Amino acid sequence: MALGLYIHVPFCPQRCPYCSFATVIGQEDRHGLYAEAICREIESWIHLSGPVETVFLGGGTPSQVEPVLIGQMLEAAQRHLGLHPDAEVSIEVNPGTVDREKFAMLKVLGFNRISIGAQSLRDADLRLLGRQHSAADVERAYAAARAAGFTNLSLDLVANVPGASKADWHFSVKRAIALAPEHLSVYSLTIEEGTVFAQRQHQGLLRPISDDGQARTLEWTDAQLVAAGYEHYEISNYARLGYRSRHNWGYWTGVPYLGVGLGAHSFIAGQRFWNTRDLNAYLDAMHQGRSPCIGEETIAPGTARRERLWLGLRTIEGVELTEQEVGRLHSSRHFAELEKVGYTALEGQRLHLTRAGFLLADALSLELERIVEEGQ
Ligand code: SF4
Repeated sequence: MALGLYIHVPFCPQRCPYCSFATVIGQEDRHGLYAEAICREIESWIHLSGPVETVFLGGGTPSQVEPVLIGQMLEAAQRHLGLHPDAEVSIEVNPGTVDREKFAMLKVLGFNRISIGAQSLRDADLRLLGRQHSAADVERAYAAARAAGFTNLSLDLVANVPGASKADWHFSVKRAIALAPEHLSVYSLTIEEGTVFAQRQHQGLLRPISDDGQARTLEWTDAQLVAAGYEHYEISNYARLGYRSRHNWGYWTGVPYLGVGLGAHSFIAGQRFWNTRDLNAYLDAMHQGRSPCIGEETIAPGTARRERLWLGLRTIEGVELTEQEVGRLHSSRHFAELEKVGYTALEGQRLHLTRAGFLLADALSLELERIVEEGQ
């Protein structure tokens, strides 16, 4: 069975004002305990039939943790679940926490893909985002990863940051293209409740960018990246040929995955379940040999069908429909209009959004779900 493994490493030096992830600030003295707990949790899944085809170490800031501890986590995955010889093994790194030596160690440990959390290549934007690193740190991290021999690099960029100038965003995108990573993720900033940005928004101190303004920025970015030879293969992701993120591709196409660590989510045999976001509760559970899982959901057939549609429509390859579903699309006047304006395409039984459709993915997915289910 194909299986993805996500390992969450929650430690960060400080909390970014827009972040809603399961993170722990400081507490460097608990890195060792946490690595041990991750190894135990992986071992508790020894009965899962592997091998694991993709591993993603995300966070948090995994690159802040000593490589020797990261090595222990990977070794547990290898020993208890088995790693496929061609597995994609990725780690998220923050500029400013890595150098050539650290990258060399990560390579020896078996990582073959690095995802650099650049967010921007302009200091002004990084300051607006409350990041600790500078644009020069991004350039240094990128060069160090290349020098250590990594041939599969991804850069994350954050678009539509309130207060950021158009010129700075254009500079970031062009500089990212000039660096020539194999993969780029471009996320529009979303303001999540419970974050400092949400608080500032409620106080009237931060005005989010209008939907139209956001769409224009993403459209411009899309044109630049596609012209530079990147495939826009998922709403927020671009890759050179052969360099799509295999791990994330699994999420969008229904491959089972095991998530271990703080707040990690899993999807196995039609069940979705998730771990506690409380570090003490997580460490106690693992220490006492209990499950850190605090919630689960059995995915009913109707939900599974809808999820398959929504996730598939995030990707350029779309989703394979049944004959009956295709019949409903063919008899819908509304669907004919969506096709005519160029937002969707139906090729045989495969339905997908176009690049123009990606900009309106949520609204279109909602409409397509209704047509596919009810035929209107
Ligand atoms: S470094 Fe990443 S995970 Fe950590 S607080 Fe900032 S955005 Fe969140």
